[in-house]
Amino acid sequence: MKQETCRDYIPIGRNLRNIRKSKGLKIDEVANKIGCSPSAISMYERGERNVKIERLLELIIFYQLDIKQFMNEYKDQIGVELNDFHEIINGRLKDTNQINIENKVRVRADGRCELCGKHAPFVDRNGEPYLEMYLLDTGEQSTEFNTVALCPNCKAKMKIMNLEGEYLYLKNKIQEKEDI
Ligand SMILES: [Zn+2]
Repeated sequence: MKQETCRDYIPIGRNLRNIRKSKGLKIDEVANKIGCSPSAISMYERGERNVKIERLLELIIFYQLDIKQFMNEYKDQIGVELNDFHEIINGRLKDTNQINIENKVRVRADGRCELCGKHAPFVDRNGEPYLEMYLLDTGEQSTEFNTVALCPNCKAKMKIMNLEGEYLYLKNKIQEKEDI
């Protein structure tokens, strides 16, 4: 990476502030979601602090903006080579996609292991039922249709033994829920 911060952040900051306001969000809310201090967001918006490209991407994704359009509009200010930017975008998007997939699977599982049907053994730090993600088709890209939420016992079983019956059971279960 040649340059990790934006060269001239003022126009971008102004735009981000307008977007935030148009969505009716407070600086605190955005800072909480992104995981930085409210004063940092405030400084970014005023263009008083250079923002790392990673952070900018988090904001772009959080505000659900079109990344390519944003990039084109501000390519002079951003001052990062397009290829470098794409590399970061792909990395970030993969993370966001993965999070979206896991959220969908969690909603589908509804607090129960999708194999044994038992309630999650405990609650994790976020207050969510503790279930682990398991990719049914290893080597394939994960989607909500090949990822299941399992209790630690079932996950260990699936991992260690090659359980064809359980595999088919889970595949069918996902399919049935999908058809509803
Ligand atoms: Zn289980």
